[in-house]
Amino acid sequence: MNSEIDTLKIMVVEDSNVTLKVLSNYLASMGITAPLLVETGNQAVDAFKRERPDIVLLDARLPDIDGFDVAKKIREIEHDGEWAAIIFLTALTKDEDLARGIAAGGDDYLTKPVSETVFHAKVRAMQRLILMQRKLVMVTQELDVANAELKRLSTTDALTGIANRRALDDFLVRELRRCMRMQKPLSLVMLDIDYFKLFNDKYGHHAGDDCLRLVAAQIARAAPRATDLCARYGGEEFMLVLGETDQDGAMWMAERVRQMIGELKIQHYATDSKHVAASCGVVSVIPDVKLTVELLVKSADAALYQAKRGGRDRVVAGEYGKF
Ligand code: GH3
Ligand code: MG
Ligand code: MG
Ligand code: MG
Repeated sequence: MNSEIDTLKIMVVEDSNVTLKVLSNYLASMGITAPLLVETGNQAVDAFKRERPDIVLLDARLPDIDGFDVAKKIREIEHDGEWAAIIFLTALTKDEDLARGIAAGGDDYLTKPVSETVFHAKVRAMQRLILMQRKLVMVTQELDVANAELKRLSTTDALTGIANRRALDDFLVRELRRCMRMQKPLSLVMLDIDYFKLFNDKYGHHAGDDCLRLVAAQIARAAPRATDLCARYGGEEFMLVLGETDQDGAMWMAERVRQMIGELKIQHYATDSKHVAASCGVVSVIPDVKLTVELLVKSADAALYQAKRGGRDRVVAGEYGKF
């Protein structure tokens, strides 16, 4: 016997004691010894809510609400992806009754009296379908999890765990449109670690990677707003996108990030402070339709270059379109 099949719960809804006895015997002879037995439609709905049987053997004529209504109610109760097999078992033999049963949500329709052989075969078939459906739900859930993880990986920088360039590009385009609609300024901070080649040469690539992780975490800590995004742009370059932020706000933010990187106090022989430092270029603009991401980045890059030329470890404000 299949052990998973044995775990399936069966409910019998039947108001006739005689029929109930026959069906119980049929079930017992296929190894199902403790089915859930109820006698009225309302009891069936309540028991379904409570016990969530996998298979419901449903009489059509019941003392209160009929089996067709019970089937409809069960389908309403079920959540997405949940499915109990409903087999009508009734004395109503007209084609129209069968059609009504299926329309109400039934999966099969047997007329009484039903032979033990047919009954067993029908229950077996439903058991098989239920196990297949369960597998399908499981595989779908696994796929959803895998897809979410893939999406996360495709937008995350593997070394630092912050957003990667692809996520930055998407975010920037969306944020530009949003700020354009609202006629609010958007700022871009481009940050580059000073003399990082010398850092790597002196302390090794491993220490370089550790340094990048610490710097990334520090930038992320400085920009926790939902309208902000910090991303690794490449090598030792980072970007901070600040939505609804003007030049003053962005300069303040970049200055804070620069200071926080200094506060890490990562030893570096080649900088004036003898600690790892970074330079920033800042540009702010109220986006219009003519604005392009390329020019915005180029403008921030130009400001960054000025910061480097001016002696590094500083923040310089640029201007959109000026480079
Ligand atoms: P500057 O102050 O002008 O920015 O000088 P710099 O040395 O920082 O700039 P440069 O562009 O010459 O060197 C960047 C260096 O960053 C080169 C490379 O060794 C290092 N680098 C880039 N990506 C990684 C990385 O993923 N891990 C490590 N450890 N180093 C990296
Ligand atoms: Mg009846
Ligand atoms: Mg660089
Ligand atoms: Mg550098």
